[in-house]
Amino acid sequence: MAGKPGGNSGWHSETTAVHAGEFVDPATRASSPNLVMSVTFAPEEVTGFSARDEQGYEGFVYGRVSSPTVAQLQAKLAALEGAEAALCFGSGVAAAHAVICGRLGRGDHLIVPDANYVGIAELARDTLPRFGIEVSFVDVSRPEEVAAAIRPNTRMLWLETPANPTMKLCDIAELARLAHDRGVRDVAVDSTYATPIATQPLTLGADFVVHSLTKYIGGHGDAMGGAVIGRKAELDALNLEATVHFGGVLSPFNAWLILRGAATLPIRMRAHEEAALKVAQFLEDHPAVSRVFYPGLPSHPQHELAKRQMRNFSGMMTFQTKRPGPEVAARMVKELEIIHYAVSLGHHRSLIYWIGTNDIQASTFRHDAEQLRRYRDYAGDGVFRLSVGIENAADLIADLSRVL
Ligand SMILES: *Cc1c(COP(=O)(O)O)cnc(C)c1O
Repeated sequence: MAGKPGGNSGWHSETTAVHAGEFVDPATRASSPNLVMSVTFAPEEVTGFSARDEQGYEGFVYGRVSSPTVAQLQAKLAALEGAEAALCFGSGVAAAHAVICGRLGRGDHLIVPDANYVGIAELARDTLPRFGIEVSFVDVSRPEEVAAAIRPNTRMLWLETPANPTMKLCDIAELARLAHDRGVRDVAVDSTYATPIATQPLTLGADFVVHSLTKYIGGHGDAMGGAVIGRKAELDALNLEATVHFGGVLSPFNAWLILRGAATLPIRMRAHEEAALKVAQFLEDHPAVSRVFYPGLPSHPQHELAKRQMRNFSGMMTFQTKRPGPEVAARMVKELEIIHYAVSLGHHRSLIYWIGTNDIQASTFRHDAEQLRRYRDYAGDGVFRLSVGIENAADLIADLSRVL
């Protein structure tokens, strides 16, 4: 495959985001990436029929194994994370499922955070145990609790930082060292909130990075996708099982949209951070707001870790209001003019959503009393999750002022 090799382009992130994985099409001299929708490819000689026969084959055979536009996105993502390889999936959750179920089996033990992205938390709580995978829910902001949870059969430590929805961070370098020293084979980091512009978990010792491409990397709210990024040998094995047999592949059209979005990731992240910092400061000073969690504010309990681990504080924050959240949310639905009251995040357009603690506790998390107490330290009775877009901060502040 033509295109810049992942991870060692030697370029700065702005240049990598534009050029890595892309190339001038030799047949047409097209400068922008081709959208290749074909699901089958005519080989130049007779090959085998199983995907196993295609291992090591450089060309394309069938769209569930690999396809050209998706391959270009994969090369770009690998380069952005400083990795050897990337594998794309139809959503972030499909990517998470692929790496967890592709790497673990019956009798293996998985450690996941006691609060993380709902879809993955529910997969861990409800689905994985049905297939014989043991799961522990641990406060990963406390390394000593992670150490205590590790068992002889612990095969994967799953991290997410900053975590959705709490904005709690964890120390990737410290936890990766701790886990590997104790024989845990895989450390996987859901880095959707941070993006490779803020944090490159593989350089901190993680084995896999997982992204929801639906969020910042695609960046425009019009394409779902996910990726697992890491070492080539492990991703080749995952390709064979997790894409070919689980089947949750990314559509070439979505890959093409996400390629276009990813080209502006570095400049968008600067804009997200700049606007988010102003909005966070406004909220922190607002009399109707009781608490703001933004890693870029000195008031964030892990601001020091954020400064060490994040080159960009991203656009995600939570805040709590003095008036009951559902009441404020009802006003937001009706009266916000710019910010959309809607789920999802990381889009160019600002999004806000109320996440009630009792609701999410009932639907998603398996907290003991102490974990619930710690969740409430960050989330109280609930939080507004605000994804600050790339609009002008003054306009966003005016919009929020109206409803607070
Ligand atoms: C949205 C999200 C996911 C899931 O991604 P989808 O593309 O919606 O499947 C995973 N992790 C985090 C942190 C997310 O915000």
